[in-house]
Amino acid sequence: MATVKEYSVEEKLAALLNLQKVESKLDEISILKGELPIEVADLEDEIQGLHARETRIEEEINGINEFVAQKKQIMVQSEELIKKYEKQSENVKNNREYEAINKELEMQTLEVKLAERHIKDASEEISDKARVLDAAKKNIANKEANLKVKKGELDKIIAETEKEEADHQILADKARASVDPRLLASFDRIRNNFRNGLAVVSVVRDACGGCFNAIPPQRQSEIRQHKKIIVCENCGRVLVDEDMNTEN
Ligand SMILES: [Zn+2]
Repeated sequence: MATVKEYSVEEKLAALLNLQKVESKLDEISILKGELPIEVADLEDEIQGLHARETRIEEEINGINEFVAQKKQIMVQSEELIKKYEKQSENVKNNREYEAINKELEMQTLEVKLAERHIKDASEEISDKARVLDAAKKNIANKEANLKVKKGELDKIIAETEKEEADHQILADKARASVDPRLLASFDRIRNNFRNGLAVVSVVRDACGGCFNAIPPQRQSEIRQHKKIIVCENCGRVLVDEDMNTEN
């Protein structure tokens, strides 16, 4: 069987307090960054979405342009045929031939008109889409400018705090390893309950340093003895005496 080292209450409290100090430093760094990491990530997502929209509209415009090119080709072909039939109609041999050519002329004229209408409708559709595309591009440019500013701010904070954060992350991992697992679980639970992330506080002016609930003298002396882990009856934070807190 593996031997598990038994820590004294004093050692447990010291390890917990040490962990609290390191985690509080990490909290401070995270507060410095504020909402910037989330804002940057949101902006990046939005820009990606807008780019996808931009590509989709461009593809639609390309599709319509292809359609217009086809219709223009039909117009050219029909106009050539019209010229050909007009020439033929100058020297028709009989009535039947004349009627046949006239019918062809009529059909090709209709083809030209139809193609013209299709081109006109498609051109309107293209200008509508071009307007939407333009708005999307402006939106992207705005968001990219905004992203650049926010990213600049965040990068600056990261550059200033990177080393400190990495160092404290290592310290936090070490500190966590030396805290009793059950205590660690309640430490994390308590920390998550409070915005200021404090799970271990000292007794300040006869009150809990976390919630300012008064601590009776008898309990304060128990806290000073380090014989058992004492939590605040009101907020559940682990209490240490001020001397211990200022020691390291
Ligand atoms: Zn309290």
